[in-house]
Amino acid sequence: MPRGKKQCPSCKEFIGSRASSCGCGFVFKKTAPKKKFNKFELLSRLVDIPDKNKRLFYLKEFKMMKILTERYSLEFVSVVNFGRKFDSLAYLVSPKLKGTLDQKWRAFNYKFDKSKYVEYNIGEKVGDDKLIEKKNKNIKDFLNE
Ligand SMILES: [Zn+2]
Repeated sequence: MPRGKKQCPSCKEFIGSRASSCGCGFVFKKTAPKKKFNKFELLSRLVDIPDKNKRLFYLKEFKMMKILTERYSLEFVSVVNFGRKFDSLAYLVSPKLKGTLDQKWRAFNYKFDKSKYVEYNIGEKVGDDKLIEKKNKNIKDFLNE
């Protein structure tokens, strides 16, 4: 196969590998594999799983996880980091932490977008330096923010 080309399974023509469709009308399926998320792993990354009453715990926590993934995204919930675990996602869903989460969400999207584009060096620094958040905050710190 020629470099940078792919073959149309319909008309056998070689076309650019990035083309989403062929001149003959064949449309290529998006090949980017979707990352799989295990919601149990996702949850245990953010909260401490109790030893008892797990069924009820999961029931409640997955409901809140749904709220978070709908408000933000699954990708975001899978990478967001607080430097500590919570007893429940209730902390993250609470209006008290919404501002902190929104801020992290914006930073997440900013990083995400940036990776998609070529970076141009315009010589001069624009904007403020990003503040590195201190780790190991406790709940009280969070709620006071
Ligand atoms: Zn074709």
